[in-house]
Amino acid sequence: MTVRLASCGCGQLRVVVRGDPIVVSVCHCYACQRRTGSVFSAQAAFPRESVTIEGAGTEFVRVGDEGARFRFTFCSACGSTVFYVEEGDEQRIAIPVGAFADSHFPAPTVSVYEKRRHSWVSLPDIECWRKDPV
Ligand SMILES: [Zn+2]
Ligand SMILES: [Zn+2]
Repeated sequence: MTVRLASCGCGQLRVVVRGDPIVVSVCHCYACQRRTGSVFSAQAAFPRESVTIEGAGTEFVRVGDEGARFRFTFCSACGSTVFYVEEGDEQRIAIPVGAFADSHFPAPTVSVYEKRRHSWVSLPDIECWRKDPV
């Protein structure tokens, strides 16, 4: 079974995951752009039972457009978000793909908030399961 390590920038907050992700997605929404400092986010979801968290994190809750509450855990020393959950769906843990620092990580199959995509960003033809709210 594949074992992967995700880490914050300073290495204090880490997540060990066993097995492959349930889904890998990218999101172009402005909240993800602000959170990551990048022009889109990429994240992989894993079942909670295959995730082991090491180190100390600080939580931040962001309420989404449709009322969903996302609970982000970041390293209070360096600021990197290392995982997050949606409240009510805590059995699924999302981890930013960049935290794995692995160029061979499985590619995304889902892209959301395409209407917020920067014009110069081109991605492979992947399924879009959600558009911007009207
Ligand atoms: Zn850190
Ligand atoms: Zn987003």
